[in-house]
Amino acid sequence: MNNGWIGVDLDGTLAHYDKWISGSHIGEPIPLMLERVKRWIAEGRDVRIFTARVSTDGSLSRDAEVFAARDAIVAWCEKHLGVEIPITNVKDYAMIELWDDRAVQVITNSGIAMNDRLLRDEINRYLTSICQHGFRRGVAAENTRLRAKGWKRVVFESGWFFVGTLIGSLAGAAFSLWLVIEATTP
Ligand SMILES: [Mg+2]
Repeated sequence: MNNGWIGVDLDGTLAHYDKWISGSHIGEPIPLMLERVKRWIAEGRDVRIFTARVSTDGSLSRDAEVFAARDAIVAWCEKHLGVEIPITNVKDYAMIELWDDRAVQVITNSGIAMNDRLLRDEINRYLTSICQHGFRRGVAAENTRLRAKGWKRVVFESGWFFVGTLIGSLAGAAFSLWLVIEATTP
């Protein structure tokens, strides 16, 4: 069994969120995330609601709101998860994962955003495939590989879309560089 706990954000991650309504209002569960959390709980993993709803500044009025928020979250969990799970807004050494719609994952010790890395890896795979199989067949082969992995839609539906995206990305990067140079040149 894995040690440590998994933090799951509430609003926008486990429960649907559009706008703030009230401290006692929590949106409907998001099916994919709810099923994931239920699976973890069934596996005996330590899952905790990780939410700013229970953050406090130490004032009495805020403490009262947190008290009410905890009640609402407990009721929501019992209704949708079938159990009460711990609620916190504090990270500690035992937290092994945090699932949150605001989080940006960085690759350890690099400062690189995981999204950028994944996109770079995908583009690299397309370029490798094109080098191996030629342009059209290379893109098609990569798309087939991704579809076999269960992707409903692939990033580059066609070879020309791939070229357009690549040129667009390079043009964007060049424009950003030009802006930086312009801004920093006296
Ligand atoms: Mg959120």
